[in-house]
Amino acid sequence: MSNLSTLLECIAFAAERHRNQRRKDADASPYINHPIALATLLATTGGIEDLVVLQAAVLHDTIEDTKTTYQELLDRFGEAVTRVVAEVTDDKTLPKAKRKELQVEHAPHMSREAALVKLADKTCNLWDMANAPPAGWPLERRREYFAWAKRVVDGLPAVSAELQRAFDAAYDLRP
Ligand code: NDP
Ligand code: ZN
Repeated sequence: MSNLSTLLECIAFAAERHRNQRRKDADASPYINHPIALATLLATTGGIEDLVVLQAAVLHDTIEDTKTTYQELLDRFGEAVTRVVAEVTDDKTLPKAKRKELQVEHAPHMSREAALVKLADKTCNLWDMANAPPAGWPLERRREYFAWAKRVVDGLPAVSAELQRAFDAAYDLRP
């Protein structure tokens, strides 16, 4: 199968899995916009052509936020992609504060592929937090989110100067 077909299959799969979910912004945007935004940022600004990274970006929230299992991703998309998605997936059995802290602790140990996805995820979320924030979040909560995202990103291995600049630009939009 061509790279293009493989990537389109991932997009179709993620779109189906996220079909009933919305982002937290006032317009309740379709959830799938977010994984597509990550992959687009990686490919355009980041110049990333590594298929595994682009696939993992598209699939990055399927295990965390839908009923999708590791085994399913493994069967459909293979070990390399599944490993990256697993690296960026929080353990939802843990309390939220613990999950947030673990992201900071795990960042320095991430593979290059997972670090790229994580960097793009935080960049897109800060961009959203500045331009289409979760409805009803007070200023202080948005500020805390920017500070936490920066702590995670500061711990990541250096993987892309271009994407780091994009993150920095998004961070500069903090309220
Ligand atoms: P959440 O994890 O609940 O929400 C943020 C996540 O929602 C993002 O990481 C993103 O994750 C997803 N998301 C969906 N829509 C949007 C959008 N439009 N813009 C940005 N992100 C979106 O946040 P927290 O609970 O961590 O809250 C942030 C901070 O606020 C924390 O540091 C916490 O300490 C503090 N807090 C404050 C409270 C208060 O009332 N003052 C209450 C609770 C927490 P993804 O990419 O995975 O979809
Ligand atoms: Zn995400």
